[in-house]
Amino acid sequence: MLVSPAMPPPVTRFAPSPTGRLHLGHAYSALFAWRAAEDAGGRFILRIEDIDATRCRPEFETAIYDDLAWLGLHWDKPVRRQSEHMAEYAAALDRLAARGLLYPCFCTRAEIRAEIARAGVAPHDAGPNGAEGPIYPGICRALSPAERETRLATGTPYALRLDAGKALGETGPLDWQDRERGTVRADPLSLGDVVLARKETPASYHLAVTLDDHLQGVTLVTRGDDLFAATHIHRLLQALLGLATPEYHHHRLIRDAAGARLAKRADAPTLESLRTAGRTPAVARRLVLDTGDG
Ligand code: GLU
Repeated sequence: MLVSPAMPPPVTRFAPSPTGRLHLGHAYSALFAWRAAEDAGGRFILRIEDIDATRCRPEFETAIYDDLAWLGLHWDKPVRRQSEHMAEYAAALDRLAARGLLYPCFCTRAEIRAEIARAGVAPHDAGPNGAEGPIYPGICRALSPAERETRLATGTPYALRLDAGKALGETGPLDWQDRERGTVRADPLSLGDVVLARKETPASYHLAVTLDDHLQGVTLVTRGDDLFAATHIHRLLQALLGLATPEYHHHRLIRDAAGARLAKRADAPTLESLRTAGRTPAVARRLVLDTGDG
């Protein structure tokens, strides 16, 4: 008789950016990841995604620890803080650059918008992790080596973009397993040539999150549906960098009574506001889980 090897218990994570106080949507995501580990005897990791020095604040990081502990969660230590690992992201970028898979992009947001308008393409908001904006129309991919050299020599600030078409040509078709949607065929071209190193930061969300999930041994990535599109590019990066592919579970986003996504509301109730209103952690957990599961 064939006995299938037992699945090892999952390693899950919650990976907030310390750019504000946690609200009920974050609490749902954190509890979702924590429960997926806890229910199966696995491990739960907390990671602080703080590569954006202009938006992240130490007081929000402290508040994340306080709010999650108040909710009753516990996590593996030490906590990985992305800002302490920039050299690892740079090394991954170097590997991709050495294979000719990156190109410098000198465009400003206004130039990208103007090119999209000129080409008559409907601006399509790729939006993974909020910061991407419209699909990049490939302006700097078309620069000649001489033009690139000239611009680099003038010191014009640049981002590094992945040549997604070339990269996919190297890897061939890719899939991932999603607990909600089954086998998903990756379509990285749907996001265009994403930024892997930003003008002001030598890394980006896509690069850091993919590398960290691998380095931390995360085997089940749980996160909101708003990041589903990003997984197409993460799957491609895994194949390019020889990283493990975790299983994914993109969960629904919790909304207020009027149907608005909490993440989009500036006044979404924070865990701090529940605490100061005298709610107990048990009530907060029930509120979060009822809203999310209902
Ligand atoms: N740091 C990301 C955020 O706060 C989430 C990263 C992820 O779950 O992949 O939106």
